[in-house]
Amino acid sequence: MRAFYSDQFVLPLPPGHRFPMAKYRLLRERLGADVPDVELAAAEPASDGELALVHTPSYIQSVVQGTLSDAQQKEIGFPWTPAMVERSRRSAGATVMAARTALFGGQGVSANLAGGTHHAYADKGSGFCVFNDAAVATRLMQAEWGRVHKQPLKVAIIDLDVHQGNGTARIFERDAQVFTLSMHGARNFPFDKEASDLDIELPDGCDDAAYLEALEHALTELEARFDPGLVIYLAGADPHEGDRLGRLSLSFDGLEARDRRVFDWAWSKRIPLAFSMAGGYGRDMTDTVQVQINTYRVAYAYWRRWQNLTKDLNQEKETHP
Ligand SMILES: [Zn+2]
Repeated sequence: MRAFYSDQFVLPLPPGHRFPMAKYRLLRERLGADVPDVELAAAEPASDGELALVHTPSYIQSVVQGTLSDAQQKEIGFPWTPAMVERSRRSAGATVMAARTALFGGQGVSANLAGGTHHAYADKGSGFCVFNDAAVATRLMQAEWGRVHKQPLKVAIIDLDVHQGNGTARIFERDAQVFTLSMHGARNFPFDKEASDLDIELPDGCDDAAYLEALEHALTELEARFDPGLVIYLAGADPHEGDRLGRLSLSFDGLEARDRRVFDWAWSKRIPLAFSMAGGYGRDMTDTVQVQINTYRVAYAYWRRWQNLTKDLNQEKETHP
C-alpha cells in the first residue's frame, strides 16, 4: 500500500505553539517500524493550477507571496514562511497522489500521512488549514477521470475528524457530484458551522457505542442518497478520549471499529478510497500516533483485499481472453 508524506518540510513554529508538528515525523517513523509493508513516498507539491481548481487566484497569490493580512494569517494560526507555503502545497499534493493511486491502476486504497485540512475555504485559510487538500484532490480526480470516462466521477468526502469540515462543506455546497459528510462535536470549533450534505452532531463525551451507532446511521443515509466512485476519508484522531481539543470519549478500539466500518463500507461497494490523517492533539502525542497507526493497519488489510481482487480479475482475463 502506498502512502505519501511531506513532513520533511517542517513548518517553523514559535516556541510553545500549540500545533503538534512533530506528530507527522513520528507517524512516518512508527509506520516504517510497525506496518513495514506500507510503501512510503515523498509527495509532489500541488501546482498553482491544481490549487486553482478550488481556491481563488487572489488567495493563492497572497499565500504564495506572503501578502496575507495579519487577520488572515491569524485565522490560519501559523506564521507565514516559505516553508509554510511549500508544506501546504506538498500536503495537498499528497492527497492528490493518494487519490490517484487509489482510483487508477487497481490499488483501491492509498494514504496521505498528513492532510485533512478541511477548514480551508476557497478564499481563506482557517484553523491550521491553508489549502483544502480533499477538495483539490476531488476536483483534480474528476478532471482526470473525465478525460477517459463518459460518466462524471462522483466523490464522497467522509469527514470523521472531530471538527466540522466547514471549508469543504462550503466549497461543494452547490456541487451535486460531491457528497460531503461530516460527523463532529456539536460544541466544538468551528462555532459557525456550514451545511454539509449530511452533518451528524455529537454531544460532548460521546462514547464508542453512541459514535458507532451514529456512523451506521450516517453511512446508511449516504448510501441512500449518493453513489460515489471515489471516497476521500478524513480519519481524524481527535475524537479520541485522550485528545486535548476533541471533547469526545472514544477509545482506541472504538476508533479502530470506526475505521473498519468506513473501509468495509467502501470495500463492500468496491469504491476506491484515499485517506488522510486530519486532526489529532493528544495530551500524549503518542496516543494520537497510535490511533493513526491503527488506521493504517486496518487500511492495509483492505488494500490486500483489493490486490487479490485485481489478481483474480487478471487471471480471469487470462483464462477467458
Ligand atoms: Zn480536528
